[in-house]
Amino acid sequence: MLAVAMVARGLCVPRRDDAPWYWLVSWRASEIDALCKRIILQATPRTEHVFASILDRLPSDIRARVDSLLPNASATRQEKEQAHEAIYEVLQKHKHQVFQRSMRSPCLAHKGCVCPLAWQDPSGAPTRDRPLTMNVSGPVCLPWSQFGKSEGMGHESVPALHVWLAEMSVMKYDVVTMENSPRMPLHVFASEMSPSSEVVSLVFGPEDMGWPVMRRRLCASAIRRDSLVWVGPLEPAAVKSHFMSFFARRVAADGDVFSGIDDLDSISATRTAVAKRQHKHVENFNVHDAQVVDLYSGRKKARVEDYMGILATSGGGHLSGSLVCDVTQDPKKRPRQHPWIPTITRSTEAVLLKHGHPRGGHVFTQREMACAMGWPSVKTDAGQQYEKATLFDTYRLSANSQKLLQGNSMHLAAVTTWLAYVMCHTIRRDIVAEYSPDLRMLRDAVSNDVNETISARHVKDAESDRLDFDIRS
Ligand SMILES: [Zn+2]
Repeated sequence: MLAVAMVARGLCVPRRDDAPWYWLVSWRASEIDALCKRIILQATPRTEHVFASILDRLPSDIRARVDSLLPNASATRQEKEQAHEAIYEVLQKHKHQVFQRSMRSPCLAHKGCVCPLAWQDPSGAPTRDRPLTMNVSGPVCLPWSQFGKSEGMGHESVPALHVWLAEMSVMKYDVVTMENSPRMPLHVFASEMSPSSEVVSLVFGPEDMGWPVMRRRLCASAIRRDSLVWVGPLEPAAVKSHFMSFFARRVAADGDVFSGIDDLDSISATRTAVAKRQHKHVENFNVHDAQVVDLYSGRKKARVEDYMGILATSGGGHLSGSLVCDVTQDPKKRPRQHPWIPTITRSTEAVLLKHGHPRGGHVFTQREMACAMGWPSVKTDAGQQYEKATLFDTYRLSANSQKLLQGNSMHLAAVTTWLAYVMCHTIRRDIVAEYSPDLRMLRDAVSNDVNETISARHVKDAESDRLDFDIRS
């Protein structure tokens, strides 16, 4: 899913033989969802290799061991956790034989071929003589998501997580970035990547950076110590304040900035679809001019009315006259009072309720919700400027396909910000060593900084000679 998001955002830039100056090669994507695989394969230009389930890359004997340990669906949560722990042990025992840079797997982009999973430059070469390698993954978040069953390490997706972690711990990527639910225990990732990597993490959402969208996620990156030097802070609180010092913005707009930006046909089709699902005889009333609450019936109508009650009693204060609700969620069980787009799941139906709106509000189209999440999915004037950087035109997708893509990934612009932050605070170790005299000058220059910033931290490190030790070891 994350790979699709990066394709849609134009972040995957595959190698182009006619452009020897390329700076970023998208070597592979791994995906199990049929729609996502189709998008990755149709993106132009396309990532070099496309693989399916990461379980498929296990050698047959290890795969058979893993399959034999999988718990029955009727097993208790404890039994499932124990079975997954046994799978973890098998993978840990064999990971150094199983996961090697020469490893190959059946490729969807080259039918009938087994293609290399990893870039083939020797990772043992000095960093200056090889490109840096990065893996960005979004392991399934349902084990910890508040919208899932909170099955934790007993969830059926955990064996795939163990395979990914085992691979990441031995494949020597210079940077490994993971995106997941804020409820995922970070030590699951950090313990696997340490001590060979420095692990930094942050829980944040687009709402921290000014977007009127609620989507808190965990981003964590592991930076290899033998090839790179992390020059940012390490403690989570310090990472947060440092990151926010660059990107934090107050949310100045309501979620209604996304309402009505889709074309009229799509808006009309969305209202009609809602009414058809709710009423057997949609021809009995005027769908286009109906009040938004009247499009619904039964339980969903009751929820909209409950949300209207919340809006009416808010006094216009923090809601500033508008509220965006998810009619699939009961406000009595999951109360939320925000004028921002709520956390979007696969089932979300977002509705704007607004004082003074001629129809009482607006039913968000799938494209509008995708646009709120950073997908270039709506034909706005601004969006056209990014068309050349977009490898796949999500505007072509049906409303249902848009829906399938939403709810699983971090807000695209937000996750892009984290990647930019990580890349801007990571330096090749050999370059640090070569230019260390200059860095000492820089260090002296920042020592007058009155703020307790990362620069200040490194000044302290330098005073204790830790930095000198690090760059020469
Ligand atoms: Zn291939």
